[in-house]
Parts: sequence; C-alpha cells; structure tokens
Amino acid sequence: MKLIFLGPPGAGKGTQAERIAERYEIAHISTGDMLRSEIRNATLLGAEAKAYLDRGELVPDSVIIDMVRDRIQREDCKNGFLLDGFPRTVVQAQALQDFTDIDFAVNIDVPFERLVARISGRRMCPDCGAAYHVSSYKAETCQKCGAKLYQRDDDREETVANRLKVYTEKTAPLIAYYETQGKLFTVDGDAQIDAVTEEIMKGLDA
Ligand code: AMP
Repeated sequence: MKLIFLGPPGAGKGTQAERIAERYEIAHISTGDMLRSEIRNATLLGAEAKAYLDRGELVPDSVIIDMVRDRIQREDCKNGFLLDGFPRTVVQAQALQDFTDIDFAVNIDVPFERLVARISGRRMCPDCGAAYHVSSYKAETCQKCGAKLYQRDDDREETVANRLKVYTEKTAPLIAYYETQGKLFTVDGDAQIDAVTEEIMKGLDA
C-alpha cells in the first residue's frame, strides 16, 4: 500500500500517519522529520534546509524530490509506505508519479480558523517524534520515551501565518490533482483523534 497524507499544517497528519503506518505495517516517511533530523545532525542538506524551515517556506522541489526518491528505495518500504508532508507542490506530485504509483491520497480536513490554536499549542518529542497538545497533555516529557518535549521553531505564531499561506498557494491544489485521478479520500480532521483514525481505516479497508 502506498499512501499520501494531505492536509494543512496542524491537521494532525503526523499523529494519524504514525497510527496508520503501524496498522498496515508500512513505512512512515515524514519529510519534515527527515529535514529536522538533517538540521540536528548539522549535515550540508540540513544547513541548506534550515533557512527555509525557519521562514515557513518550502525547501526547493529538487532537494526534496531526490530525498524522497532515495528514501522509498529502502528495505522498510517493501510493503509500502505512507508519505506525510510530501508532495507539497504539483511539481513534487508529478515527480512522484514518475517514479511510483500511489494508491490513495488521504486528505485530512480541518477548518482553517482552528489551525493556529492547534499548531501553537503543539509540543514535540525530539527523539520519537510524538506530538502533544498543551490543552490535553500537561507533562513536559514524552509519554512514550521520556525525552523532554519542545516547541518547533516554526510552530511559533509569527511563522504559522506564512506556513498557512504557503499551504493555500502551493499545496491545496493537490486536492484537486488527486481528486481528478480518483485517488482522493477526505476525512473530517476536526473530530477526536481516535475517531479520525477509525474513519481513515474504514475508508482504506473499503
Ligand atoms: P512539516 O513537519 O511537514 O510541517 O514540515 C516542516 C517544514 O519542512 C516545512 O514548513 C518545509 O519548510 C519543509 N518541508 C517538509 N516537507 C516538504 C516538502 N515536501 N517540500 C518542501 N518543503 C518541505
């Protein structure tokens, strides 16, 4: 199974992607996590990407396309994979189509006015990538692995507005792109986390 998760920043793609990848035993590939790991490890790619992430801009298509093309060749993708955060532009979607066929694009829909609060209250685990929200999780350490949680630099309010603008201009057109191909499946992302997971599974199983 080869899946794509679409949705604006803060829609819950990462949380749902982790659950769905586990359920179907496919690799969870988050391009944002890959870039943050490059930045943490101070690689050349990380140095190039950092300025884009800090501004809430997209990393150039050529960089990200090469990264994903290499990543999906790896052994853990032999059962399939779930791309979380890729493609984010029509150019990326066309490149992806040139090197593999995807089965479904799951679009997690959340009303725009809900996103800023969802993103600015988000706290992340630097080690396992788990995400929490301050409204429902008061501890400062990760429930799964115990690492100290942090707020992503680009989750601060000043960067969030630009990320939403970039999403609207560059990524939202992918909804129509996959709809035209008959591969789009939209779920209501404004429900409880478990209910969203269930809706996605029901759709995929059907
Ligand atoms: P995310 O964790 O998916 O919200 O991604 C965080 C940031 O990484 C984005 O704001 C972009 O700067 C960069 N990024 C992640 N995926 C892509 C992509 N497919 N194309 C370009 N930039 C990306």
